[in-house]
This record gives sequence, structure tokens and C-alpha cells, in this order.
Amino acid sequence: MKIDSLEKIASEVVGCPLCKLSRTRKNAVPGEGQVSAKLMFIGEAPGKNEDLKGKPFVGAAGRILDEAMKKAGLERSNVFITNVVKCRPPGNRVPEQDERIACRPYLQRQILLLSPKIICILGSIAYASILGGKSITASRGKIIVHKGQRYFLTVHPAAAIYNKSLRHVFENDILKLSEEFKKIEKGRYGDSLLRYMEKS
Ligand code: URA
Ligand code: SF4
Repeated sequence: MKIDSLEKIASEVVGCPLCKLSRTRKNAVPGEGQVSAKLMFIGEAPGKNEDLKGKPFVGAAGRILDEAMKKAGLERSNVFITNVVKCRPPGNRVPEQDERIACRPYLQRQILLLSPKIICILGSIAYASILGGKSITASRGKIIVHKGQRYFLTVHPAAAIYNKSLRHVFENDILKLSEEFKKIEKGRYGDSLLRYMEKS
């Protein structure tokens, strides 16, 4: 069996016919970052700018994310950024269930390859799609462990574009994420803690 790679996934995504979003996209957006990245961000779906450029978070929401990362001392070159669905839903509607299901194996393969120390989930749609969560507002700012994988939950940066207080919340969350990530990288949290958190 051929070994999987981010490049292989990206080339499959670019020509993917598996759901109806393939018929309206300009460019699929597989994701961006190195396979060595240990922190992963997962958003909802590409928007207009992402669809034009084939890259994730390059529009207004991307600028909010970039700014928050910069303030938290995180660099794009050290993280992997992708979305639940890799093609833009027309008019930026919410991705439908069949589209999320069709696209899921790509995300699962990306997660498997990176084996991230922590996955930052951006917004309710990603939360619902990945973890079956309901309200991101009730759970944001928290780390949760599911099947041995750590997740950090926060609001979607697009929600913070015109909302100053939410922007503050988002930036504080990303700062907290960065601090947790640095602790994990230094090895202050062992696997026993991971098991403990999962049980609790
Ligand atoms: N919103 C998302 O969820 N993802 C992007 O890539 C851009 C905007
Ligand atoms: Fe394929 Fe995902 Fe794009 Fe649908 S959204 S066409 S499943 S890559």
C-alpha cells in the first residue's frame, strides 16, 4: 500500500467529485501547513476568497485569525489550517450533512498524518461535525479529550469580524490555546493526564 501524504490528500481533494460542492467550486481548499505541525486549526468551509485562491482563511476571517495568532506568538508556518469541507458552499451557506460526510475521510487522513498535540476547533459547525457538539458558546475556551485526541474549542473568527467583544473573547482563547500548546510541547502533560482527562 502506498504511504499517505498531505500532498496525496491535496491532489485528491483538488479533483474530488464526491459531493455536489464540486460542481460550484472554483478551487478546492485542501489546507495549508507542514506535516510536522503539531497544532491544527479546523474551520467550517472555504469562503469566497479561499475559493478564489485555493487557500484556507485568506479573507476577513483569516485576518482575525492571523492577528490573534500573532498576539499569541503563534506562526502560520508552525500550524496546519483546514476546514470540515474542502469546497465552498454556494453563497457561504452552511455545509450540508451529506457534504460533511463525503468530505470527512480527507480530514481524518490529515489528522492521522499530523497526529497533532491539539486541534483547535473554530465555531459551532466544526464543533458539531467533528465532536457532535451543540453550543460552542457554552463550551468555548475549554480543552476536551476525545478518543485520545486533545481539542480546544473556540468561536469562529468570522463571528468576530463585526463584534468587538467576541473578538476579544477569540483573541483571549487563542492566547490560552497557545499557552496550553507550549506546555504540552514542553512535555508537562504526560499521557497519563490525557487518560485522566478522558475519564473525567
Ligand atoms: N471560514 C472558514 O471556516 N474557513 C475558511 O477557510 C475561511 C473562512
Ligand atoms: Fe470532495 Fe469535500 Fe469538495 Fe465535497 S467538499 S467535492 S467531498 S473535497
